[in-house]
Amino acid sequence: MSGATSSLLPGAAAGASAIGLYARPTPGFEARVAETLALLQQAVTAHGSGLIQSTSLGAEDMVITDLIARHGLAIPIATLDTGALHEQTLALIPAIEQRYAIKVQVFSPVQEAVIQFVGTNGERAMYESLALRKACCGLRKLEPLARMLNGATAWITGLRREQSANRAEVPFDEDDGQGRRKLNVLAAWSWADVWHYIQAYQVPYNALHDQFMPSIGCAPCTRAIAVGEDFRAGRWWWEDENAKECGLHKSHSNEELNTKKSGAPA
Ligand code: SF4
Repeated sequence: MSGATSSLLPGAAAGASAIGLYARPTPGFEARVAETLALLQQAVTAHGSGLIQSTSLGAEDMVITDLIARHGLAIPIATLDTGALHEQTLALIPAIEQRYAIKVQVFSPVQEAVIQFVGTNGERAMYESLALRKACCGLRKLEPLARMLNGATAWITGLRREQSANRAEVPFDEDDGQGRRKLNVLAAWSWADVWHYIQAYQVPYNALHDQFMPSIGCAPCTRAIAVGEDFRAGRWWWEDENAKECGLHKSHSNEELNTKKSGAPA
């Protein structure tokens, strides 16, 4: 599990920048960047208008968006606004649009469904049971994601093998179970690679990464992690480790946990 452990440095001061904590050049970095760019270019050739980047607005996805925009690739960028995101996360949408002069497509849950769910189960339903948490993810993430991917033949995610044990065998290209290809173009990148790229290309990133939140989802379900904690320890921290996926991405080591898939605020 060492590969899935964050690189937080012992004694790192609160408020230290994520770049300062994590970015460092590692052997093969340039080759991995070139490989990722080649994968994106191949995806454009193979899928044309059926290709989309589903971004969680996390650090990995910001790298991918930068590569897409920097190289002028014809890949639309889309994200989910679950209605429960931090303001720092939402701030990245206009930041991307201004920085790269591209439009970010935003998909939101059906408001009536959210109102009904919250009215019936309360604002804190996700803490009460795994079933209610997954129901919340279903209506705030999975349903709008299905709309986002409607008509797509392939979608690009920022999943990396290092992120967790459940993601340790993420391939570059896989069947998403819905007849589409899921392209995990950063599968081989390390956390140091991600931040080295962000530093080198001055990529905008979520300010919460500077507050010890390496993996950021909805506000009620994300907390900062402590030194030495697992990369995704701040996600659904009250649940069993093996349940820590929201259904956007199929578990690769425990198929029965998540039978659905996808890639947004994962
Ligand atoms: S991450 Fe939390 S708030 Fe967001 S959709 Fe899932 S349960 Fe709901």
